[in-house]
Amino acid sequence: MRTTVVVIGAGQAGLAMSWWLAERSIDHVVLERGEVANTWRSERWDSLTLLTPNWQSRLPGQGYEGDDPDGFRTMTETVEFIERYATLVAPPLRTHCPVVSVRRAGDGYQVATQQGTWQCRAVVLAAGAFNMAQVPALSAEIPPDIAQLTTARYRNPESLEPGGVMVVGAAASGAQIAEEIQRSGRPVTLAVGEHVRAPRMYRGRDVQWWMDATGLNDERYDQVENLRRARALSSFQIAGHVDRRNIDLNALTALGVALVGRLAAVREGKVQFSGSLRNLCELADLKQNRLLNTFDEWAAAHGVGDEVDPPHRPEPTRVVASPPLGLDLRRAGIRTIVWATGFRPDYSWLDIAVLDPKGNIRHDGGVVTEAPGLYVMGLPFLRRRKSSLIDGVGDDARDLSAHLASHLG
Ligand SMILES: Cc1cc2nc3c(=O)[nH]c(=O)nc-3n(C[C@H](O)[C@H](O)[C@H](O)COP(=O)(O)OP(=O)(O)OC[C@H]3O[C@@H](n4cnc5c(N)ncnc54)[C@H](O)[C@@H]3O)c2cc1C
Repeated sequence: MRTTVVVIGAGQAGLAMSWWLAERSIDHVVLERGEVANTWRSERWDSLTLLTPNWQSRLPGQGYEGDDPDGFRTMTETVEFIERYATLVAPPLRTHCPVVSVRRAGDGYQVATQQGTWQCRAVVLAAGAFNMAQVPALSAEIPPDIAQLTTARYRNPESLEPGGVMVVGAAASGAQIAEEIQRSGRPVTLAVGEHVRAPRMYRGRDVQWWMDATGLNDERYDQVENLRRARALSSFQIAGHVDRRNIDLNALTALGVALVGRLAAVREGKVQFSGSLRNLCELADLKQNRLLNTFDEWAAAHGVGDEVDPPHRPEPTRVVASPPLGLDLRRAGIRTIVWATGFRPDYSWLDIAVLDPKGNIRHDGGVVTEAPGLYVMGLPFLRRRKSSLIDGVGDDARDLSAHLASHLG
């Protein structure tokens, strides 16, 4: 089969790209291994709500029209929202069509799937940034009678064995899951590494309102000081709860969650934590205050200081005097470990040498320069800080489709 462009993946990124390719009258097909919004259907836990408010899910051709712009979608609502978008875009779509290989062929590409092979001039990888859980190698040392699962497999506290739970990682997913497991009555120990603290609300406005208004979400990849670091940063430690409560470490401690440092080693059923908890928390507090300073400066410079509440600074993170440096898992009653240690993309089917030693694709703002006609979308800080958010794929798809159009000549 022949087409001009193959787009791999029918999440928001693939659909937004299809919208822009259609705008530019570029012939294409979207190949999806499951259903539209597959990841939102199958790799998220039951209680998850978006941490971005409804108004912020803007896609090319589709804004928010409901009566709850500041609300947070459930997963069912998110799937419906992406499905509605797919109906609007009406892409040339093949579902249940896993791509098994992409390779160069002449001045274009050959994309092999279980439904046949496509020859094309360009390929857009919109297959997701969060396909494979990054579980540290030391997980192999965890005693076999302690259950282990990743955030992609976790569903709800009730499906865990009774007893204690250790959640490893305190970004948005780890903090949200730690909170709900602790509330279910299972005592949680949270191993905290580097994290990005942020308040849900600041001066009466949502943190995402500030990120949007100040232009921080639109900050470009070629303007940011340390791009490698910006791309590696974890998500804000926030949740999309109706009451807009914080889920920072102070909130978790108040619920009874025990904070420990980074999980550093496992030996004979005992785990060791690094002694860096206090430093990591101080750093996160410092960076949060810097972010809030940026918001305040923007508000003052743009004359909106009087329209919002007065500035304030959250209480520093409370850390006990000597956090434990080790734990005997069985003695502490830990029955389950939830790995909330991040994800990476899966390019196992990409037969083109464009990956770095860590398996990340080498690209310049989504343009894979070593393989002309190959593009990638949806990765953290791909072209903008918001690139991996629903709100970010529209601008990226517009830019990359323009580049692609000029590549096609
Ligand atoms: C826990 C979690 C919470 C998040 N919360 C938010 C939030 O609140 N707000 C927000 O804006 N963003 C959020 N994100 C980030 C981001 O919006 C989602 O990860 C989103 O799913 C990314 O969309 P995407 O289109 O880039 O990739 P995906 O939604 O992952 O879509 C990629 C598609 O490609 C398909 N695919 C993969 N490999 C192949 C293959 N070989 N052949 C064919 N098809 C393939 C997959 O089945 C999938 O449907 C969250 C992410 C996570 C992990």
